[in-house]
Amino acid sequence: MDFHFSEEQTMLRELAREILEKELDLERLKEVEAEGDWFDRELWAKLAEANLLGLAVPEAQGGMGMGFLELCVLLQEIGRAVAPLPALPALVCGGLAIARFGSDAQKQRWLPGIAKGEVICSACLTEPGGGTDLGNLKTVARVVDGGYELTGTKVFISHAEHAGLFFVVASIDLARKHKGVCAFLLDPKQTRGITIRDFPMRTLKRDNLAEVHFEGAFVPTECLLGEEGAGFPILGSALDMGRFSVAARQVGQAQRAIDLALPYANERRAFDQPIGHFQLTQQKITDMISRCQQARHVVYQLGRMKDAGIERCSMESSMAKLLASKAAVANALDGMQIFGGYSCSAEYEIGRLLMEAKAMEFGEGTSELHTKIIAEIALGLRKG
Ligand SMILES: Cc1cc2nc3c(=O)[nH]c(=O)nc-3n(C[C@H](O)[C@H](O)[C@H](O)COP(=O)(O)OP(=O)(O)OC[C@H]3O[C@@H](n4cnc5c(N)ncnc54)[C@H](O)[C@@H]3O)c2cc1C
Repeated sequence: MDFHFSEEQTMLRELAREILEKELDLERLKEVEAEGDWFDRELWAKLAEANLLGLAVPEAQGGMGMGFLELCVLLQEIGRAVAPLPALPALVCGGLAIARFGSDAQKQRWLPGIAKGEVICSACLTEPGGGTDLGNLKTVARVVDGGYELTGTKVFISHAEHAGLFFVVASIDLARKHKGVCAFLLDPKQTRGITIRDFPMRTLKRDNLAEVHFEGAFVPTECLLGEEGAGFPILGSALDMGRFSVAARQVGQAQRAIDLALPYANERRAFDQPIGHFQLTQQKITDMISRCQQARHVVYQLGRMKDAGIERCSMESSMAKLLASKAAVANALDGMQIFGGYSCSAEYEIGRLLMEAKAMEFGEGTSELHTKIIAEIALGLRKG
């Protein structure tokens, strides 16, 4: 497949790269990772100013109305810069779900703020009992006069503290399993009965992960996204988009490991020559580049399918997420090997990539889940 970029797509990549290279303070990031949580609001504002946060939001709601391929270009650059902007996948997932399933009033209420970077979206899906089996969630939405009362706990919620929009899934009837699932859009700052607590992480502290407790939190009927009990297909579609966005970010991360390893292999010397002259180092470099390129092509292909209007591409989304996760983790490992002992020194960035790549392998579905989805679709056990 030909992936030559148009002039507009090339300009978008250059713009994103320029902002990220100029504005991202990697030294500060190092300090922050040692200290605790941080959300880079300045960088976020710069991207918003360039309208990049509204890239995929329809023009009618103040966005750029661009396609998935463009989104992929942006997210790869963000992943490559290792930018502290993990809220983007949730924005993509939540924002695109609103664009696709929302009522006119919901689109008008949420999308312009998302496009301007004023509203950060957190996806509240995972529960303490497990994130893989989402059809078995335990958060309930009790039907009351004028709306619903949500009760339950969500864990691992990126940027919940900063969010102006929660995309929440809950069940109106646990016995109905996935057929009881509903999706809600709510403003956590305007909703009573929500408590947000820290969820301390060993890595990706800049994701500001939190635990979110809903204790009879009232949400009016207009917060329901789509029909009552029809939340599972909405969730499936949102996850498809989330998987695409995480996969693009992971391709960027896989590329970052290459960017770091190549100059090091040329500069670092052993036995009177650069270590890049040893065939065993060259093998790693070849593997790193090939894996990254393979994953990139699968992600671009998925973007093209989505741009062609194919709404559910579950098999391709799972393949993209699986291959990009594997590439990001394997490239971080090979990159570390090239750096030798220095990969464990706090001075060098390469060591950080491994834990981050591994963490992202879990987000938006683990590799086991995607392996299962691909095989089940191929075997005709599940719809693609
Ligand atoms: C950095 C980070 C950010 C995150 N951000 C968010 C967020 O913003 N919002 C949100 O809702 N969640 C978020 N998550 C949670 C993430 O989506 C879950 O961790 C993920 O879905 C897996 O759920 P779990 O951790 O409960 O693992 P479990 O579901 O308990 O799975 C444990 C293990 O069992 C395996 N397993 C489960 N079922 C099967 C099966 N059928 N076959 C084979 N193996 C199986 C899994 O693959 C895994 O290896 C985030 C996670 C991380 C690490």
